[in-house]
Amino acid sequence: MQNPISLQNLKYFALDMDGTIYLGHQLLPGAKEFLDYLAISGRKYVFLTNNSSKNKQSYVNKLQELGLNANVNQILTSGEATALYIKARKPKARIFLLGTPDLEREFVSHGFTLTSSSPDFVVLGFDQTLHYDKLTEACHLIREGVPFIATHPDINCPTAERSGYIPDVGAMLELIYASTGKKAKIIGKPYQEIIDVLLEKLDCRREETAMVGDRLYTDIKLAENAAICGILVLSGETKQADLMFSEIHPDYVFAGVHELAVALQQK
Ligand SMILES: [Mg+2]
Repeated sequence: MQNPISLQNLKYFALDMDGTIYLGHQLLPGAKEFLDYLAISGRKYVFLTNNSSKNKQSYVNKLQELGLNANVNQILTSGEATALYIKARKPKARIFLLGTPDLEREFVSHGFTLTSSSPDFVVLGFDQTLHYDKLTEACHLIREGVPFIATHPDINCPTAERSGYIPDVGAMLELIYASTGKKAKIIGKPYQEIIDVLLEKLDCRREETAMVGDRLYTDIKLAENAAICGILVLSGETKQADLMFSEIHPDYVFAGVHELAVALQQK
């Protein structure tokens, strides 16, 4: 690791949510004060999520239930990031979308036409309404050479139900790959495209931007891939001991966002 950017020079923060700001349904200690400090010190922050099945308002509602004030402009889902990525390359594109009604509405709001007839792209989101006909059509189109984009790579999504996991986009990608031999371009964490979209959307400078999160292989790997400052918090999945054997190196490590806020306040 060489010359990490000074914390005091950071102006934009991309924030993971679960394990960083809250854990399940519990706000983490100092999270509200951390966000308040970012705001009063003139810094901007956006919550990043790979989940492309829900709309941004549902995250605003969840944050509000936990006592945090957020608005939809402070949420970036991998679904919106994918829409913005495509819009920058082909506005008004025709898209065959495998996604929930929430994701369909997101795509329509960006001016895309959702269709299986001569689409410019096949897009795979976390489609909890997936059925065999949609899958078959997607595989035909992909085999015929239509560019294929996926919102994020997660194989499983954690759930409170039964075995604890439900199949996510990564598992659907494996199925499509097995059938077509084609891999998708992926936008969400840990791929840098979600940060490129964020920098564009907020008009941020890369060297003034940090990713804060609790997972090495998604949040910190994303910071590495996007060449921004990576700040690991140990309030979620990663433990101090994991760092010893990791090939992914954060620029900074803190016990949690409370400790990060304290460090940001030091001159
Ligand atoms: Mg997390």
